[in-house]
Amino acid sequence: KGRLTIAGCGLHPGHMTLETQSLIQTAESVLLVAPNPLSIQHIRQLNPHTEHLGRFYNMGYSRPEIYRQMALYIIALVHQGRSVCVVFYGHPGVFVSSTRMASRVLAEQGYPVTMLPGISADACLYADLGLDPADTGCQSYESTRFLLTRREIDSSAALILWQLGLTGEHSMDKFEPGQQGLAALSRLLQQSYPAEHMLCLYEAPTLPGFEPRKDWIALADLAKADVNTITTLYVPACREPTFAEERLGWLGLTEADIS
Ligand code: SAM
Repeated sequence: KGRLTIAGCGLHPGHMTLETQSLIQTAESVLLVAPNPLSIQHIRQLNPHTEHLGRFYNMGYSRPEIYRQMALYIIALVHQGRSVCVVFYGHPGVFVSSTRMASRVLAEQGYPVTMLPGISADACLYADLGLDPADTGCQSYESTRFLLTRREIDSSAALILWQLGLTGEHSMDKFEPGQQGLAALSRLLQQSYPAEHMLCLYEAPTLPGFEPRKDWIALADLAKADVNTITTLYVPACREPTFAEERLGWLGLTEADIS
């Protein structure tokens, strides 16, 4: 009977966990989405029955249709009775809709589905930018969703925006920011942060031993920032949070009691 395991290979070959490695080696079919050639080569060496799904990006589909077609393909292979391992770059459950679609359908049909975590872009960002989300708390959003939906922006917590390079690209057909997307995002953020607040355009290295991109720019300059498909935006907190006096009161405490 078919089964599906979804694994993450991290952002470069050095990020592969031993668990994922042994799973790839023993799977009957490996389906792979990894943008970097070294990871593709590494995984093909682990299992020659590896098929790269990158071709779905070049078939003229809209972005949602690419992910739907990938999910249908994964489902069809499992229906054939194979043990399928789908390997996505980073963490396979972080901003990856095709794996979620396929696992939902297959789990409902009674197939065994499991997911193994991988090292995601935000895990690398925490390491490279020295950000501990315990310090200020951390908000994390997809950039266009963040722009177009009403949110309580908490400027006392860190903010991570994914898919900065697709900001405002509502047609779902392209792999670049929509016209005015970054300008609109800058305008929105300026309602909560000063124009001179410094933000980081972050790109984790996709080859071992290389340096990350950490370009600090002023919020006012975000509209003309040089972004691409792997850029993630980090917005540091710009103020201290205030204590909730009534809740301190619930515990019989005052601010002075909290270090
Ligand atoms: N599953 C991936 C993960 O766990 O990191 C995320 C996939 S999501 C479709 C693509 C987004 O992840 C990009 O737009 C960017 O925000 C982020 N991303 C991917 N690769 C990155 C890298 N090398 N450095 C920084 N962010 C990256």
